[in-house]
Amino acid sequence: MTDSPTRWSVAETVERVERGEVTAAAATGAHLTRIEERRSLNAYITVMADQAREQAADIDRKRAAGESLGPLAGVPLAIKDNILVAGVPCTCGSRILRDWIPPYEATVIERLRGAGAVFVGKSNCDEFAMGSTTENSHYGPSRNPHDPERVPGGSSGGSAVAVADFQAVAGLGSDTGGSVRLPAALCGVVGLKPTYGAVSRWGLVAFASSLDQIGVFGRTVADTKAVFDVIRGHDPRDSTSMRTNGARPAPKQLTIGWPEEYYGEGLDAEIRHSLEQTANRLKDSGHKIIPVSLPNSKYTIAVYYVICTAEASSNLARYDGVKYGHRADSPDDLLDMYRHTRAEGFGDEVKRRILLGTYVLSAGYYDAYYGTAQKVRTLIADDFTRAFATVDCLLTPTSPTCAFKLGEKMDDPLAMYLSDIYTTSINLAGLPAVSVPCGTSKGGLPIGAQVIGRPFEEHLILSVAEEIEKHRR
Ligand code: GLN
Repeated sequence: MTDSPTRWSVAETVERVERGEVTAAAATGAHLTRIEERRSLNAYITVMADQAREQAADIDRKRAAGESLGPLAGVPLAIKDNILVAGVPCTCGSRILRDWIPPYEATVIERLRGAGAVFVGKSNCDEFAMGSTTENSHYGPSRNPHDPERVPGGSSGGSAVAVADFQAVAGLGSDTGGSVRLPAALCGVVGLKPTYGAVSRWGLVAFASSLDQIGVFGRTVADTKAVFDVIRGHDPRDSTSMRTNGARPAPKQLTIGWPEEYYGEGLDAEIRHSLEQTANRLKDSGHKIIPVSLPNSKYTIAVYYVICTAEASSNLARYDGVKYGHRADSPDDLLDMYRHTRAEGFGDEVKRRILLGTYVLSAGYYDAYYGTAQKVRTLIADDFTRAFATVDCLLTPTSPTCAFKLGEKMDDPLAMYLSDIYTTSINLAGLPAVSVPCGTSKGGLPIGAQVIGRPFEEHLILSVAEEIEKHRR
């Protein structure tokens, strides 16, 4: 343990607050100071200094009154700016929602509040979570703490930076095609994308509803799990959230699949080497590693970008200047108002996706694009089901490369989309996956391993992630 609360784990923070060794106010204050010192990394769009101090004071009052404190008492968290906190601006990284203040809040926020967590800020992200670097944020990109000239990954890059840079103990993101796991890998922290339906999305601004899931960042697997345990579980306000039965007990010795398609062309040699080492260590601890095949992986990016754009074009139709956020000045008529509002309010990538999505859903093209993508999505999911008949989980890289330079892929959307090559299929299949640091490149950049599980077996993939974490200590 070090003396600054910014360095503590979830458990250390809670214990110290409970024992009265530190006040929640002091733990929060230390993080707010750190946030101010580190503004150049642009982790947050809105710093919630006043609200955070109030929340912390409330916890300290409860403790003084002898009331019981929650499992996250006094733990400062970063919240991606597409998750609603009542009364706090929610921009989604977009100009169109610049001044929008939500009147209600997400179920995950209610649960975290109930557990005693403190929200220190709304973190930066790609506009409406569309992107892999945070460079699509209207509020400027976040920077990777390992090298500020490099991207932190995205779209939940701000939360990853905040956690990696000690500007929060843990954080929330959303993951539609990799947006928690990719920035976790590039910033050297843990990122969990739960099973579709494991966490309520009430109060998460929708991007692609058949894929979106709220996920967690932590510096350790234990921290990640502590936050996940608070936010998981059925919520009657989200019709896709699930009631789950007790999980299958995890066998001590696991059979771990090594999907050949995830180690092919395009994978950085250092990352491959790091994953091979990780697999060898798992073998040494008694697990079996066997090759498996997911033959439809090659269609993942194509299928993902048809489905997510189709859903986005529909979900984003609501931003028309009438009910939410930005409205263009002095339009001639209603249609003109819609046009100008959307032209001014949305950035290039969001416009590109709305156009693509509208196209693939339009009469005459619907079956050829959207219909076909849905069928291939089923084939991709079936590949996983077949693999899970013989293995307990899968081990893959999270990202084909380490953090690249800011600006490097901004003029080439396809190159940018390929950053998600190892993560999107998991959303298409609705599975849980965690990215955990497994090595460092020669240039000092973090490398992430991805462990993919059967539906609702988060505990199993987290236990594998914990082993990978231990091997590195
Ligand atoms: N990078 C992917 C995209 O741009 C995934 C984003 C996400 O998971 N929100 O769509």
